[in-house]
Formats: sequence, C-alpha cells, structure tokens
Amino acid sequence: MNLWNSNSRVFLALLTAGTIFATPGRPQAPSPTSSKKLKIYISVDMEGVAGVVTADQLGPSGFEYERFRKFMTNETLAAVQAAKEAGANEIIVSDSHGNGQNLLIEQFPKDVRIVRAWPRHGGMMAGIDSTFDAAMFVGYHASTTNPRGVRAHTFSSAHLARVALNGNAVTEGEFNAAYAGALGVPVVFASGDDAATQELKSRLGNIEIAETKKSLGFHSAETITPEASCERVAAGVKVALHRLPEFKPYVLKTPITLELTFKNYTPAEILSYLRAVQRVDSHTIRFVGKDMAEVDDFVEFVDNYNADLTP
Ligand SMILES: [Zn+2]
Repeated sequence: MNLWNSNSRVFLALLTAGTIFATPGRPQAPSPTSSKKLKIYISVDMEGVAGVVTADQLGPSGFEYERFRKFMTNETLAAVQAAKEAGANEIIVSDSHGNGQNLLIEQFPKDVRIVRAWPRHGGMMAGIDSTFDAAMFVGYHASTTNPRGVRAHTFSSAHLARVALNGNAVTEGEFNAAYAGALGVPVVFASGDDAATQELKSRLGNIEIAETKKSLGFHSAETITPEASCERVAAGVKVALHRLPEFKPYVLKTPITLELTFKNYTPAEILSYLRAVQRVDSHTIRFVGKDMAEVDDFVEFVDNYNADLTP
C-alpha cells in the first residue's frame, strides 16, 4: 500500500475521548461452514510483483503502469486459479495498492469478488471475516524498518518511519496477518521479493512463499519474468492449500498497543491532542485498541483523513 494524502492536515479536535470510530462492517461471529466450503481471501499489493522497481510501474503517472497492472493482475489470477484447482469455491480479492483500482477486474472468473478503492474498514484485508479458511498475500513488500527490500515501507513511505504492534515493528503483511488472525484466519502464502518473503516468514512462521525478485536496493532488483512469477505463485498457492491444516492464525495479545513513528513532528503533535493518543517521543504516538479492528480503524483514519477531503 502507499496511499497517504500528501497534504494531510489532521483535524482531530472534532473527536472526543472514548470510542472514536464508527464500527459498521465488524467481524461476524464464527459460523459453522460446510466441509465442502473453502473460502480464500487474497490481498494484493504491487511493489512485490515481478519486475516492479520504481514509481514508473506503481501508479497511473508511471510510463510502465499500464503494463504492470496487467502483470499484477496475472499474478493474482495465477493465485486464484491455483486456489480453485486446490478446491477453493469462494474467493475475495482485495486491490490493496495505491488507489486500490489497479486490478483489471474483467479478467477475473465471474465467481470472484473484488474489493476496490479506499477508505474502507479492514484496509488491505477489507471483506475478510471469520468464515474464511485462509488468507494469502500477493505482491507484498518489506517493512519500513527493513534495510533491504524494493520499495520497503509500512503503509506510507512518505510519512511513516515505523509501525509497531505490542512493541514490535511490523510489516504490512504482519499487521494484516494479525487482523486475519483475530478472526481465526491463518495466512498461508505470500509472494514478493526475497527481503519481503524472508521477513514475513520470520514473523509468521513457515508459510509458503514465492520469490518474485532479489532486491538489490530500494529501487533495483534482479527479477524473474512475469510468466515465471505466475508459475511460482501458482505452485506456492497449491502447496499452501495442501498444507492448510498445518497453519495457525497469527494472534496478538489484546488490548493491542499501536505505535506510529512519523517522519515529521507535527502529525505526532496534533494526534496527541486526542485523549486516546499518547505522545511517546518527538515523532511517535501510541494508541491502545481493544482489538485489531480498532487498531486498524485508527491507522485507516490517520492514513485517510485530510481536511480538504471532498465530496
Ligand atoms: Zn503498494
């Protein structure tokens, strides 16, 4: 993801202490699923797609964007097809990069549903609930605290230097795994560069991975081809779903302490006007949420709020 409004001026005085966010679309209570049902959630980012190295591939103003959104779509389709071959009969895909409108939706099988655009409760995991059997990450990247990794960042490369849960710096993948884990859904597969996939394995355990490129720097990589990458993604997804009973949800202890370290001073200063927020140091604030849904809503708010928002 990387969607922070560049001129975000946080206007939080409207909010009072206590529960500050509306909570529609909350996770549902567990319901019994038929043994034949296999529901898969696929969250898709773009920085980890084969060949992606700079902004030239990552957004509508980049000269290679139109080609690379096709490659992103193809890697996702490879995951969808492999999941179906492994028995998945219900799939939700979330377009979780940039404007959230990258995937070419007409290319998908007609029984797949696609989550698009922002803001949305659940962020990169919007639409997942406790009825899903597994979650997967396609095109993911390393965290902002990782010295390696193509376009390594956590939620915002422009604004955040660290995102931590319960005292540990996390990747987007780990954050999202904790969101899914709170609903009882394990992450079983991730694709991305070598830094991203190794980092995620070190946090989530022995998930299946597909390495799409070797990071040579923030803006360089030795990549495999789009076609080879699709093959790796498909193979990894199949193995992951055959291993499904081995995976456990990634569950963090609640309440959950979130820390956001900004690259600048004033976001930390103004956020700390909220009684629910503590200023930890010059650039860092702390928010304690009762669960991952509340923590995620806080991040979504900070990420999306801008006094110039229209309509
Ligand atoms: Zn992204």
